[in-house]
Amino acid sequence: MNIGVLALQGAFAEHDAVLSRFPGVETRTIRQRADLTDDLAGLILPGGESTVMAKLLVELELMEPITTAVRAGLPVFGTCAGLILLAKEVQGPSAARIGELEVRVKRNAYGRQVDSFTTQNDFAALGAVPMVFIRAPAILETTERVVQLSVVRGLPVAVRQDNILATSFHPELTDDLRVHSYFLEMVSSRQ
Ligand code: GLN
Repeated sequence: MNIGVLALQGAFAEHDAVLSRFPGVETRTIRQRADLTDDLAGLILPGGESTVMAKLLVELELMEPITTAVRAGLPVFGTCAGLILLAKEVQGPSAARIGELEVRVKRNAYGRQVDSFTTQNDFAALGAVPMVFIRAPAILETTERVVQLSVVRGLPVAVRQDNILATSFHPELTDDLRVHSYFLEMVSSRQ
């Protein structure tokens, strides 16, 4: 199966490296409209700087076709800045977004003192998963369409709404492949 990784900015190479460890998965870096072909089975939106990514998505005319594909059911996995791009609502000033995930987020929400931290936490049926947070957004609110897969410090850090998976942490920065595996299950169960 072909999985696209948005490769405009941020931690895309790390997702690419994780996907390369799954037999049968081919990765395609998405940098322009022509890369978004019909044979893509899923798409990953990496961490990075959401405002920069948003600007590039609009400039490169990728925002609209990606939004259309997500609405049509393309499985998508957003990590950190990718979660912000998917969020319907962002507290405070915000950039253009895909906006299909019914959550309200706050950027850089874990405060300067704890800018980045690592923890282990239960994730749905996977058991304890290592979680790396880097200037992470907090998910402050979710609608009833959104399933909370993991909760840290009282706030959801992994959520799912139908074909959309999003985490405020970075599973691609650990050696644990299970969150990517969970996403690939979503992709294969759609096909
Ligand atoms: N702080 C970044 C933002 O607001 C997200 C950080 C990340 O992706 N690691 O876009």
